[in-house]
Amino acid sequence: MKFSAIAEVFDKLESTASRLEMTSILAEFFKTLEPEDIKPIIYLTQGKIAPDFAGVELGMADRLVAKAIAFTVGETESSISEMMIKLGDPGTVAEKLIADKKQMTLFSETLTLGRVISSLTAIAQTEGRDSQGRKMKYLSNMLHDSDPVEARYLCRIVTGRMRTGVAAMTVLDALALSFADKDARPEIERAYNVTSDLGLVGATLAGHGMAGISKIRVKLGNPIRVMLAERLPSLAHILEKMGGECAMEYKYDGIRVQAHIGPDGVKLYSRRLEDLTSNFPDIAESLKSRLNGKDAIIEGECVAIDKEGKMMPFQTVTHRRRKHGMDDAVNDYPVNIFMFDILYLNGKDLTTLPYTERRKLLSDSFSISGKIGLTTMMLVSGPEEAETFFEDALRARCEGIMAKSIGRESVYRAGSRGFLWIKYKKDYSTNLMDSFDLVVVGAFYGMGKRAGKYGALLMAAFNHDTGMYSTVCKLGTGFDDAFLDELPEMLDPYKSEKRPLSVDSKMVPDVWFEPTLVLEVTGAEISVSPIHTAASGIEGEDSGIAIRFPRFTGRVRNDRGPDQATTVEEIEEMYRLQPGKSEFGDAKDL
Ligand code: AMP
Repeated sequence: MKFSAIAEVFDKLESTASRLEMTSILAEFFKTLEPEDIKPIIYLTQGKIAPDFAGVELGMADRLVAKAIAFTVGETESSISEMMIKLGDPGTVAEKLIADKKQMTLFSETLTLGRVISSLTAIAQTEGRDSQGRKMKYLSNMLHDSDPVEARYLCRIVTGRMRTGVAAMTVLDALALSFADKDARPEIERAYNVTSDLGLVGATLAGHGMAGISKIRVKLGNPIRVMLAERLPSLAHILEKMGGECAMEYKYDGIRVQAHIGPDGVKLYSRRLEDLTSNFPDIAESLKSRLNGKDAIIEGECVAIDKEGKMMPFQTVTHRRRKHGMDDAVNDYPVNIFMFDILYLNGKDLTTLPYTERRKLLSDSFSISGKIGLTTMMLVSGPEEAETFFEDALRARCEGIMAKSIGRESVYRAGSRGFLWIKYKKDYSTNLMDSFDLVVVGAFYGMGKRAGKYGALLMAAFNHDTGMYSTVCKLGTGFDDAFLDELPEMLDPYKSEKRPLSVDSKMVPDVWFEPTLVLEVTGAEISVSPIHTAASGIEGEDSGIAIRFPRFTGRVRNDRGPDQATTVEEIEEMYRLQPGKSEFGDAKDL
């Protein structure tokens, strides 16, 4: 299959912001494909050549791509770098220059999907001496034979900047439309949630239909998309929502891991499904030796502890996320795991069992001691009990509690955020809002002391229904000088010359960014805003909601992807549950 046909579809997808239109473009396209091409094409729609958890990194730096473009079109590297700064994206630069050069090229060989995939694979796998030079050549060889639109997408894929705005959920919608019917959509999504592999789901559906999809099961070594919690503003609300009784667990402030423990070893995945095994070798080892059984998939929170065994704040455990010097970090920052769920045991999928059965299997399957613990849990049926448990959790240096449904419906809902789990944190009880994980979509240049730097950021929440990022505040507080100095390095790779299609904003910042970086932000309250676009129309036409007095907590949430940020729906729910009306009036000045 010609790569130009695929690039043409990417171009069409990029020119629409409507999720419905994207779905129908993709669905029409999928119908025309050979089953074996579906898998790689689905990965390419996400700017990848493998599922996220496979850890295949293309990650070519802009400078190297500039070199490849320069080499291909016979320009100097510095002139390409200058164009990149102006146009903000290597893809656009390559497209422009290849268009100019095309009239002069005599010999070129058509780019096929197979050739693109094998060259991208070679780029990902090349290591060792002169690996940069070889990567550059692989890209340049493809650019030599590409048309301008192909060149745009090749450069975007290798630099991790695919901008078609196609969310995983849109791919699933399109697959259902192409190969099944609407009713099949939940079953297709289930298959994705238990495998975290869009390509596999697409290929199975195209090759074997719904019969194939229904056979997809939880598999050891294949990470499961994590279940997430909703939030409510008081323990009383939580108990009411849970029907008067529930399990409550301490909410530990660490790094979530999903451990796949098998006869051949242990793999630990983060909540974004990255491989974290090398960061917690001690935990992997202890889990394996303390499992009473053949294999298991469990989830838990890794928390740093001090010499007396007391829990340390989140920042301490993040020392384990560094890339080098892990041996020292293992000694310097001891970590325990507090397990809270079991999803698979001795070859059996447990995700459809209710909470209490899973909890029992979890505690029966491990010898609990040393580094391996269970989350502290209590069955709660009254507000006083809940309050006491919550205070105990804070005393034990936890963030708050997690309430968990104990009804028959309390299965592990992979990939979904719902009221089967409800979190309640310390911040809520001090009348401040909970912290939000918001995505940077723009920046404003600073003035005065911040001149020449980014002084404030435009922050957005994720709208799960539309796949868009809607703005909720302008953030300029809580930054120290070191952070402001680091910001350009963190953000500039995601610069966009115009508003990214996935961003919904009335405000126009000085610089736009592809939604990528997630920051933790606290706020004083949520109010109606004529400026911000989240929950647009909530109190009449032209009104959205905004977070008032936002403040950066100092935490960069590298463990969260932008689509795992706080959702617009969550903020809307908090707005509705907020006691009383705003004492600050409308948020016109935000
Ligand atoms: P949040 O990050 O505020 O959305 O809260 C959800 C996160 O809390 C999960 O992803 C886990 O990392 C963490 N967590 C801590 N303790 C527990 C627990 N007992 N049960 C489930 N999740 C927990």
